[in-house]
Amino acid sequence: MTGITLALSKGRIFEETLPLLAAAGIVPSDDPETSRKLILGTSRADVRLIIVRASDTPTYVQYGAADLGIAGKDVLLEHGGAGLYQPLDLKIARCRMAVAVPAGFDYAAAVRPGARLRVATKYIQTAREHFAGKGVHVDLIKLYGSMELAPLVGLADAIVDLVSSGGTLKANNLVAVEEIMPISSRLIVNQAALKMKRALLQPVIDAFAGAVRD
Ligand code: ATP
Ligand code: MG
Repeated sequence: MTGITLALSKGRIFEETLPLLAAAGIVPSDDPETSRKLILGTSRADVRLIIVRASDTPTYVQYGAADLGIAGKDVLLEHGGAGLYQPLDLKIARCRMAVAVPAGFDYAAAVRPGARLRVATKYIQTAREHFAGKGVHVDLIKLYGSMELAPLVGLADAIVDLVSSGGTLKANNLVAVEEIMPISSRLIVNQAALKMKRALLQPVIDAFAGAVRD
């Protein structure tokens, strides 16, 4: 491909990326919410978009199937970032990674030296590092979604999940007891593509940088 391919997930990342794309003169020719196409043309003949699962974005960019992508820091920490250049925090899709437990659960006692905590999460690497840093022994249970359910049915004592308004936690009688880190989405670039296609990629990176809003 002589042009450039940008990988995006539909939903909040696609929606919040539209103003950044516009700043680079890129307008998608289809809406991924209504179109079933996975490759979308744009107003620029040299730019196409591919629609991927959020957690797959770094993989497409790592292997060069996409030159650029937009991925949450949560997803990048699990992926590891191999082969990726991460030039920009786009400050979109913002939320927090947190530990949550059922209301009334004695978290302080559960993380005392010698204790073991059962933690269910989609974010195994992040959870492992967080609890290792605190010296807390954990049994990690990998889930792919609806983490809030796990402590309610005895699968785990705690969860590590993304929290924004806290509405889902509240609806399930859970409380956030520890913030792990703030999360936002990053621009990621294939390192080899950046060298080979710098003349095409750098103006897009610069336009995105100029359009980032706090
Ligand atoms: P899938 O829905 O395919 O399982 P996902 O839940 O990771 O994947 P999205 O919900 O589109 O996909 O989330 C994409 C990114 O947006 C996440 O990786 C995270 O960085 C961020 N994000 C997730 N939930 C929220 C939220 N409630 N508020 C703000 N940003 C969020
Ligand atoms: Mg989601």
